[in-house]
Amino acid sequence: MKKTIAIIGAGPCALMLGNTLDPTKFDIHIYEKNASAARKFLVAGDGGLNLTHSENPVQFLRRYTPALFLKKAFDHFTNHDFINWLTANGLETFVGSSGRVFPKKGIKPIEVLNLLVQKAKNNQVQFYFEQEWKGFDEENNLLFEHKGQQKTIKADLVIFCLGGASWPVTGSTGTWLNYFKNKNIATKTFLASNCAFQINWEASFIKKAEGKVLKNCKITCGSKSHLGEVVITKFGMEGSGIYPLSPEIREQLKVNGLAEIQLDLKPNLSAEKILEKLNATKSGSNFTQHLKTQLNLSEAQIFLLKQYVSKEDFLDLPKLIAHIKCLQLSITALAPIEDAISSVGGISLEEVDENYELKKMPRHFVIGEMLDYDAPTGGYLLQACFSMAKYVGDLLNKR
Ligand SMILES: Cc1cc2nc3c(=O)[nH]c(=O)nc-3n(C[C@H](O)[C@H](O)[C@H](O)COP(=O)(O)OP(=O)(O)OC[C@H]3O[C@@H](n4cnc5c(N)ncnc54)[C@H](O)[C@@H]3O)c2cc1C
Repeated sequence: MKKTIAIIGAGPCALMLGNTLDPTKFDIHIYEKNASAARKFLVAGDGGLNLTHSENPVQFLRRYTPALFLKKAFDHFTNHDFINWLTANGLETFVGSSGRVFPKKGIKPIEVLNLLVQKAKNNQVQFYFEQEWKGFDEENNLLFEHKGQQKTIKADLVIFCLGGASWPVTGSTGTWLNYFKNKNIATKTFLASNCAFQINWEASFIKKAEGKVLKNCKITCGSKSHLGEVVITKFGMEGSGIYPLSPEIREQLKVNGLAEIQLDLKPNLSAEKILEKLNATKSGSNFTQHLKTQLNLSEAQIFLLKQYVSKEDFLDLPKLIAHIKCLQLSITALAPIEDAISSVGGISLEEVDENYELKKMPRHFVIGEMLDYDAPTGGYLLQACFSMAKYVGDLLNKR
């Protein structure tokens, strides 16, 4: 007899499950509260659908905080396996200059989504839309609401794929936390990740620098550094150069109410090399011009130095160089979760075993962004979802 599987939430996790589970063994049902699948996946596609990253799998896994919970699933279905899987399923990809992997130029995110949905349908998966999961009854059956009507669904196996709580307009609201809490399952409050960070800029600075990009700078928070670019906004700072520091920034904010970051504006030049360059014959009409030309500093970098280095230090070469290599800024808050790319929080990792099965509720699995882990942008968020789903799907097929 076939077993019934209820998959709740129709995002990337659910779609990979729908493409993996064996329809000769299971009746596969996907329930989604929206009227269509994977809205967040489509939003992700707005800025270029970064499906995964091409880097070495060993390095890849180190991007996750924590990393161990993903190891088995990722080893089973690595970034390279995913790229090959996409190609085998008719979706060509290309690797961008940063190593990020995207659908081949000209392929729209909706086409990728349609392919995943159609393949799941070909795999005999049944989709049910406008079905909001509302918790469990006393026998752990699933309670749903559909157009104002309540219904109860029984399933042999349940896989929760409800997503996190960022961009709630897509349907991933995290409002289900209480249903698990009521079952004595430990949960954590959702917090923003890969978001803008608030810096109380001086008004005169932001007037000149808003929208400017700081390219190729190294940002450090605590013991972690990252090289990349950030955009200066009225709110503070955001971009791929600072997103990977989200865990450290959140921790400092929690402990101290402030997070200290240090910017190295010239990460490829040592302090000695900078001194040598600045000691060269004066170029330009004044010192600022000389600084700009010799070090190839952008307008935004000059604005930063002029605003955040005292006049005395600016004119004292060793002190100025120390600031160029280590400019201190304070972050005062995270952006609202509504505007964040991802979230942390949700179901505590201690609540699931190595196969993502709830220890207190066997036959119930939890995967994807509803688990409490962090990952930077760059394709790591989607890869985690696809790896976990492929792993659980193949595991159940074998059981
Ligand atoms: C602006 C933005 C850009 C992004 N860009 C990228 C990128 O380029 N690369 C990358 O790797 N990642 C990116 N991400 C992150 C990526 O989209 C997510 O990590 C991924 O969608 C998470 O997949 P998931 O299956 O866990 O959950 P989700 O995609 O969040 O899907 C969960 C589904 O569950 C449904 N649901 C929720 N509650 C219920 C309920 N009670 N009953 C029924 N259904 C419910 C939701 O409606 C939703 O459809 C981006 C995210 C955002 C917001």
